[in-house]
Amino acid sequence: GAKERGKGDYFAYVPGMTTRIVAHAELGAQLREAIDAGQLFIEYQPIVRLCDGHIVGTEALVRWRHPERGIVPPAEFIPAAEQTGLVVPLGRWVLREACAQQSRWRQTLGAAAPGSVGVNVAGRQLTEPDFVATVGAALADTGLDPRHLIIEVTETAVVDAAATAALQALRDMRIRIALDDFGTAASSLGLLLTCPVTALKLDRTFVDRITTVNRQEAVAMAVVRMAQALELDAVAEGIETEEQAVLLRNLGYRFGQGYLYGRPLAPDDLATRVAPALSSVGRRTG
Ligand code: C2E
Ligand code: MG
Ligand code: MG
Ligand code: MG
Repeated sequence: GAKERGKGDYFAYVPGMTTRIVAHAELGAQLREAIDAGQLFIEYQPIVRLCDGHIVGTEALVRWRHPERGIVPPAEFIPAAEQTGLVVPLGRWVLREACAQQSRWRQTLGAAAPGSVGVNVAGRQLTEPDFVATVGAALADTGLDPRHLIIEVTETAVVDAAATAALQALRDMRIRIALDDFGTAASSLGLLLTCPVTALKLDRTFVDRITTVNRQEAVAMAVVRMAQALELDAVAEGIETEEQAVLLRNLGYRFGQGYLYGRPLAPDDLATRVAPALSSVGRRTG
């Protein structure tokens, strides 16, 4: 939508750039170096309890600080990364970084620390034979309790039995699984029978005009009823107004995420949000 941080804006002033296709091919080629050169970074968006706005967790969202193009949002390079397979090393980096951050927050912020960090995982990663071991190593190396990690997968990422088996192995480790962008793909309901998910994240396309479009409200209601019946957490994505929040809360959503509660933030800024007093200790000032 128009409110989204402008897709394509980042390419508008690159000399000689004629098509988005060229941009994607170039980005794909540069991504390998980007990982090694430390150009990727993560912002953390608050996930709140809708009854009182308390921050219960965060979602880790990757960005690319491109030397010429500035900050590139994930929508501009994750698709290319999935096609080339680079999403595997990229995702491994995000996972370790997010686990390390969450582990540090648990240590420095104590009771005020967010309860979980959500990490987005692409289908391509899920079906890697060593994916589950990679997650286990990330937890062990960062000292993070598996109950503080949520793996976010989309309906389209859970393509086969291998993907489902990987998710089950993560559940057996007590990691939580959220079904992201819920409702936007074709196969949603069957997945609820086969996949060991613990939460549904209602896609923001069902939230953006929920206060005026009856069908959005009807779908949002159906999803939260289903989540309740299945004893899953329900998280509403893309909440931008108080009116949306009130409506979703009344429908039964306990958790939400969106600009109303906070944009994706640098780690220090997130810490300041959850623990203003504590986080100033040892904070970088330069
Ligand atoms: P997602 O996992 O559904 O993440 C939520 C997206 O919605 C984020 O966009 C977030 O900034 C945006 N958002 C949150 N609240 C609002 C709101 O109130 N209004 C609007 N308009 N947008 C809101 P972002 O950071 O650009 O990420 C886009 C997508 O890129 C993510 O969607 C996810 O699918 C993917 N992505 C991000 N990081 C990673 C990653 O590390 N690995 C993989 N595989 N995919 C990632
Ligand atoms: Mg997500
Ligand atoms: Mg989502
Ligand atoms: Mg999304």
